[in-house]
Formats: sequence, structure tokens, C-alpha cells
Amino acid sequence: MGVSAVREVDVCVVGLGPAGRALAHRALRAGLSVTAIDPRPDRLWPPTFSCWVDELPDWLPSGAIATTIPAPTVWTKTEHRIDRPYCVLSKPGLRAALPLDDATVIAGRATRVDAHEVELTDGAVHTAAAVFDTRGLPTLGRRRAASAHGIFVAAETAAPMVSDGEGLLLDWRPENGAGPDEPPSFLYAVPLGDGTVIFEETSLGLRGGMPQHELRKRTLNRLAAHGIRLTGVEPSEAAHYPLDQPPPRKGEAGAIPFGSRGGMMHPCTGYSVADSLALADTAIAALRQGRDPIAALWPRRARLVYWMRMRGLYGLGRLTTEQSIAMFDAFFSASPRRQRALLSAHDDYTALGAVLFNTVARTWPFRWRYDLVGWTNRNRWLDYDFDQAPVSAARR
Ligand SMILES: Cc1cc2nc3c(=O)[nH]c(=O)nc-3n(C[C@H](O)[C@H](O)[C@H](O)COP(=O)(O)OP(=O)(O)OC[C@H]3O[C@@H](n4cnc5c(N)ncnc54)[C@H](O)[C@@H]3O)c2cc1C
Repeated sequence: MGVSAVREVDVCVVGLGPAGRALAHRALRAGLSVTAIDPRPDRLWPPTFSCWVDELPDWLPSGAIATTIPAPTVWTKTEHRIDRPYCVLSKPGLRAALPLDDATVIAGRATRVDAHEVELTDGAVHTAAAVFDTRGLPTLGRRRAASAHGIFVAAETAAPMVSDGEGLLLDWRPENGAGPDEPPSFLYAVPLGDGTVIFEETSLGLRGGMPQHELRKRTLNRLAAHGIRLTGVEPSEAAHYPLDQPPPRKGEAGAIPFGSRGGMMHPCTGYSVADSLALADTAIAALRQGRDPIAALWPRRARLVYWMRMRGLYGLGRLTTEQSIAMFDAFFSASPRRQRALLSAHDDYTALGAVLFNTVARTWPFRWRYDLVGWTNRNRWLDYDFDQAPVSAARR
């Protein structure tokens, strides 16, 4: 197929998820010319995105936030109140905060994404001084996964478990019906600011993830434990994506990967949106100053942080429920800076090293530390067959 269009701009962004849209928007604000490409550029993003409020960049207007939870709760063996505001983003609000009015927005799918050229399925080729690849994550396969099944429940039905302004970030109470020989999962439940609360059973770190039917069963068990019964017609959402998408290598010759595709997916939390929003200006500033955006985004200390978080992901994927509870209990007893170093900060490697070390050192009984670091039970859940698991509660 011949070349049907050529247009040279400063920046071409391929993929308009939250990362691509933020990057294109900030490039426009910096005075650059931008082409933005996505098969459905006007679509509202399907998932519900959340993050810590302090992770969001100052330039983002408050309209991007749907609701704030001033001090979310973590349940391990005991209840921990995390004194750090957490928020659910508004999909329309976030979109409106990232206008692309002055960009050339193209509804199309890229088949080739190179350093200076992007080819679309219709054969059109777009050229730019810099191309950013923000096409999101590749398919999961057998990689280490975030899996979640979320059910949207009316706020009044949810009230026995989650009331307005409250949120359960990680609920490890033994209420999901899973036995000690089954892979662990926890509940995430937050109000969305639209009269509903999402209840989302979540598994982190398993190779290939946890199936939806298992996660749904566990969510329903937890709700039943609090006397909450559903009608069965509540809307739901599913997540299954890899947590181990690495940062681009130094000096990589092709397009610049950014967002979840470019190493910004946090290996231990499954979050990338706030980091991508916060790092957009770093990439754009480097471009404008003639520096390498990959070097600016990924200095040594950020790579070290990524490496340490990957150790955390490996650990998560091999623990039992009991061990996970002990480990999270140790983690959420750490200082706010150290918690933040694992959960959010892109490059606070000293605090992260300290919190990982102390989390292992405080996990009890002693022999569990060997599982955490991978000396024992390294592949505990590999090829676990969920269909053969003991039926511990009725499925709906
Ligand atoms: C149910 C669920 C809940 C989640 N909750 C959170 C959360 O609370 N917080 C958080 O940070 N993250 C959350 N995540 C993870 C979240 O999906 C990612 O963090 C986020 O979407 C990554 O943004 P991105 O822009 O990098 O990629 P994506 O959002 O995947 O966007 C990629 C874009 O590229 C486009 N694209 C793909 N291929 C092409 C192509 N060939 N040509 C052109 N365009 C293309 C796609 O259409 C898409 O618009 C959740 C995920 C799920 C599924």
C-alpha cells in the first residue's frame, strides 16, 4: 500500500489512554505541534482509575477527581488507618482536564511505530521529530498479573461495609472463602462518587492471573459475610494485565515507550495512571531541551526502584494468605515516607530499600522470610488449577 499522507510535527503520540492523552496535552501546552492517534480517540476509558491525591501533578485541575477518601483503611490482622488522602478519578473530568484541541487527532490503528514514523492500517504514514508509543500493555499470557473482578453496588446496599468518605484499600480479613492452600486475594472497595461503591477482589503477582469466576465468588463471599446480598444484575468490570512491563533500555533506538507500556505500571500495585500524568512534563521538557526523554525518565535511581519493586512482585506472587497478611502488617507499620517509597515515589531508592528490608525483617515466623525472598516455595502457585480447587462456597 502506498504512502497516502505525510505530515511532519514535533510529537506523535500513538495511543490515547490516560498516559498518551496526558503526554499529548502537555506537549501542546509546551507549544509543540502534536499528532495523536487512537482507534477510538473519543471513547471514555473503560476502567475506573484511582491513586493517592499527592501523586497527581499540580497542573491537573481538581475536576479530574470524582471523590476523595481522606484516610483509607487497610485490614491485615488489625485495622490500619492510612493518613494519606486517596482519590477516585472522574473519567469525564480527567478527559476534560486533558484537552487536545490544537492537536491533529486521528482515528486509526498503528501497524508500525518507529522512532520518527507511524504507519496506520490504511497505509497513511505520519512523521514526527519524536514518536511516543503509549499503546498500553501487551497481552497477559503467563506473565505475573493483576487480576480483579469489580462489582458496582448502590451506596445504600454497600453501607454495612463502606460508607461515604471511607474506603477499604486492602481488606485481608478472612472472609472470601479461600482456604489456606489456595492463592491469596484481597478486597478493594471504594465509593466512586456517583452513588455506587466498587467491590473488587484482587490478586497480584500470580503468573497468568486468577480467573474471573474465582474472584467473583470471593467478592460475593465477602459481601455475604457482612449481610450484603446482590441482585445479580449489578454491573461489573474485569482486570487482567501484566505487572512486569519493564522500562525501556537506555539508548533504545525506536519510538519512546511511555505510560504502562514504558515501565510506568507499578509492579506491586498495578497502578500507572498517576505516575504517567506526573512524568509527562519530564518527557516533554527533555525533548524541548534536546535531551533523551528515556534518560530523563529513567535515571539510575528510578531503575533501581523499579528493580526493587520487581523483587516485591516476585514475593507477592508466592505467598500464602497468612503470609501476605503478616507481610502487609509489617509494611503498613512502616513510616509514611517508607510506605510512600514503595507505593508511589518514582526514585526514592534509599527509603524503598529500607522498607523492603524491614518488611522482610519484621515478618514473623522467621521461616516465612525465606518464602518472601524466594529461597523456599519459589513457584508455590505455578500452574495452580482453580477448577480443581475445593468448593468452599456456593457460586452465583
Ligand atoms: C478494571 C481495571 C481497573 C484499574 N484500576 C486502576 C487504578 O485504579 N489506577 C491505575 O493507575 N491503574 C488502574 N488500572 C490499570 C490501568 O488500566 C492502567 O494503569 C492504564 O489504563 C494505563 O494507561 P495507558 O495510557 O498507559 O494505557 P491504556 O489505558 O491501555 O491505553 C492505551 C491506548 O492505546 C490505544 N492503542 C492500542 N493499540 C493501538 C494501536 N495499534 N494504534 C493506536 N492506538 C492503539 C488503545 O486503544 C488505548 O486507548 C486498572 C485497569 C483495569 C482493567
